[in-house]
Amino acid sequence: MTELLFRDDAYLKTTTARVVAVRDGKVELDRTIFYPLGGGQPGDTGFLIRDNGTRIAVADTRKGETPGAVAHVLAAGESLPEPGESVGLEIDWDRRYALMRLHTALHVMSCVVIAPVTGGNIAPDKARLDFDIDITLLDADRIAQGTNELIARGVATETVWITDEELDARPELVKTMSVQPPRGAGRVRLLKIPDIDLQPCGGTHVANIAEIGGIRVLRIRNEGKRNKRVEIALAG
Ligand SMILES: [Zn+2]
Repeated sequence: MTELLFRDDAYLKTTTARVVAVRDGKVELDRTIFYPLGGGQPGDTGFLIRDNGTRIAVADTRKGETPGAVAHVLAAGESLPEPGESVGLEIDWDRRYALMRLHTALHVMSCVVIAPVTGGNIAPDKARLDFDIDITLLDADRIAQGTNELIARGVATETVWITDEELDARPELVKTMSVQPPRGAGRVRLLKIPDIDLQPCGGTHVANIAEIGGIRVLRIRNEGKRNKRVEIALAG
């Protein structure tokens, strides 16, 4: 198991950790600030820093082979740290913060477009949600305006944990048909944006939706019978 520090504090940019295992160019640590690919949010990039100052580039972060483990995927040709070694951790904060702003923006947008979500993806420069909806009901200006009006409320986000049983009793919380919330650990993490959104999510979000600033709709596209895609970027 890797202790997931980003779950309680998404704003940690650096920390230290101990190397638990190294195999196939992947490093497992006892704890991490690197978010592993999941829920449409890409894995973090950054550096592991050895005591002698050597900076080892992390090209990607994935879930590990064992449940709860995180694999830090090293860039090709990097030197490998030793199990038991202490290392510094540093994430590419500009990239992660853009992902956090766009990720949280998708939560807000999902409350403006009222339809089942059939897919989604986040990149540092743009993000998208796919909806099961008649495409004639999707208007770029109205989506941007409605989303930006909610963002302007400037409310703080909250992390809420509920049990699997509580989630089962409230199926309306699960908007996303393509990504089922992680179960099995007995409890599920929710992102709450008071009076706007509440849904299961394990990703990283901004502390206050005002940090998103605003969004613009890049395009709306038909990606199939049940996939009408709305792609957005940060306004500024
Ligand atoms: Zn989320």
